[in-house]
Amino acid sequence: MSKTIWQKERMSTYESLRNDISTEVLVIGGGICGVLTAYYLSKYFKVVLVEADQIASSRTGKTTAVITALQDVYYKDLIKRFGKTTARLYLEANLNAIEEYDKLSSIYEFDFERVNSYKYFKNNQSKLEDEYLSIKSLGYTPSIEDDYAICFSNQAQMNPLKLISNLLDNFTIYENTKIVKIKNQIAYTDKNHIKAKHIIVATGYPFLRLKGLYPLKLTQKKSYVAVIEDINKDKDFNAIGCEEGDLYFRTYKNQLIIGGNDQKTGKTIEGFWPVLQYIEKNQSDKRISYQWINQDCITLDGLPYIGKYFKNQEVYVATGFNLWGMTGSMIAAQIFKDTLLGKTNPYLKIFEPSRKSPIIPLLINVKTALVNLVKLKKRCLHLGCGLYYNKEEGTYECPCHGSKYDKEGNVLFNPSNKNK
Ligand SMILES: Cc1cc2nc3c(=O)[nH]c(=O)nc-3n(C[C@H](O)[C@H](O)[C@H](O)COP(=O)(O)OP(=O)(O)OC[C@H]3O[C@@H](n4cnc5c(N)ncnc54)[C@H](O)[C@@H]3O)c2cc1C
Repeated sequence: MSKTIWQKERMSTYESLRNDISTEVLVIGGGICGVLTAYYLSKYFKVVLVEADQIASSRTGKTTAVITALQDVYYKDLIKRFGKTTARLYLEANLNAIEEYDKLSSIYEFDFERVNSYKYFKNNQSKLEDEYLSIKSLGYTPSIEDDYAICFSNQAQMNPLKLISNLLDNFTIYENTKIVKIKNQIAYTDKNHIKAKHIIVATGYPFLRLKGLYPLKLTQKKSYVAVIEDINKDKDFNAIGCEEGDLYFRTYKNQLIIGGNDQKTGKTIEGFWPVLQYIEKNQSDKRISYQWINQDCITLDGLPYIGKYFKNQEVYVATGFNLWGMTGSMIAAQIFKDTLLGKTNPYLKIFEPSRKSPIIPLLINVKTALVNLVKLKKRCLHLGCGLYYNKEEGTYECPCHGSKYDKEGNVLFNPSNKNK
C-alpha cells in the first residue's frame, strides 16, 4: 500500500539529459509548482524542465489536492503579523488561484470540482467567532454551518496527477536529471550543463545548501493519510480542523481521504494511529485502500517564499507552501509569468523570500541545528545534522531541515541531494 491514490495514473516517462543545452527558461523540479510554472511560461518562452527523479514523484504525488483559501493559517494571525492589506492580498491570491484552476478545467479533464471547504471548531466557539470576524474584516463573508464550522463555498479539489499529465506536452522535460550547482545562469548536473536566461528553482526544499539562508527559514512537517472506499455522501466537500491533532477530510469519487497527526519531520509520535483510530471508531465497516505519508516545507511566518533566489541574477525560487501548495504553486506560477513578462504582479511583494523573519521561530531553528550538529549519530548529507531513526517507518529523518531517507539510505524527501 505504498502508492498514493493518485499514483495509479499512468504518467509519460522522459529521458535524462545527455548533452549541454541552452534555453530561455529552465525550471528545476517536476512537482506541481515546477509543472504549472513551466506550462504558463511555455506560452511565451522556450522552456526546459528538469526533474531529479520522475515527474510528481515527491510531495505532489502524495498530496490531498484540496484547492482552497480556507487553510490552517488563521486570518486573525495574518492580520496581527502583517496587517489587513497583506492578509487580504493572501486571501485574494488564493481565490484567484482557484479561478486559474477553473480555467484549466475548461481545457483539460482532471476531476476538478467546485466544493465547499469547511474549517471546524468543535470545542472552540470563541476561536470560531474571532476567525469569522477576521475574515469579515477583510471584506469576505463566509457562512457558519451547524454552529461549529466556517464554510467557504465555491472552493475546489482535483486529481493532481491527471492535471499534470495534461500539461506536459507544452515544454521539454528531462527526468532523472539532478541539478547540483547553479553559477552565472548555468545549472550543472554531474555530467552536463544547461545555460538559461531565467532559472526557476521549484524543488520543494531549495537544494542550494546555504544560499538564501533557507536552512534557517524552513522546517518540514509530515502528515499521515488514509483512504476508505464506498462511503455514503450527500455531496463532495473538504474540511480541516482548527485544533492541533484534528483530522482533515476530502471526498474523491466514492472515497474519503482522511489525514492528520501533522508533526515536525525528525521525530514521530503515534504515526498513522490517530487516523486509523478514527476509521476504526467511525467507519469500521469500510476498507482502507491506501495509506501514505507526505511532508511539506514550513516557513517562519505562515506565508510561502516566492521570488528572487539570488539578488542581481535571474534565479527565482518558490517554496514553503505550508501544506497548501496547490494554490501556492498556482500563485507562484502566475508571479513568475508576470515577472518574466515584465508585468507587475499584485502579490509579488507579500511573498518576497528576503522579507524579515520573526525572531523567535528563527532562534528555535538555529538552536535545533546547533543541538543536532553536535549529536553523535548518523549524519544527514545536506548539512550534517544527526539523523533520527524512525523505527515505525524504517526511515532516517533530519530534525533540522527534514531530509528523509529509507533504510537503504535512498533520499525520500530533499533537501538532501545525495543517497547515504
Ligand atoms: C499530507 C499532505 C497533504 C497535503 N494536501 C494538500 C492539499 O490538500 N492542498 C494543498 O494545497 N496542498 C497540500 N499539501 C501540500 C502540497 O502537497 C505541496 O505543497 C506541494 O505538492 C509542493 O509541490 P512542489 O512542486 O513545490 O514540490 P514537490 O512536489 O516536492 O516537487 C519538487 C520536485 O523537485 C525535484 N527535485 C528536487 N531537487 C532537485 C534537483 N536538485 N534537481 C532536479 N529536480 C529536483 C524533486 O524530485 C521533486 O519531484 C499537502 C501536503 C501534505 C504533507
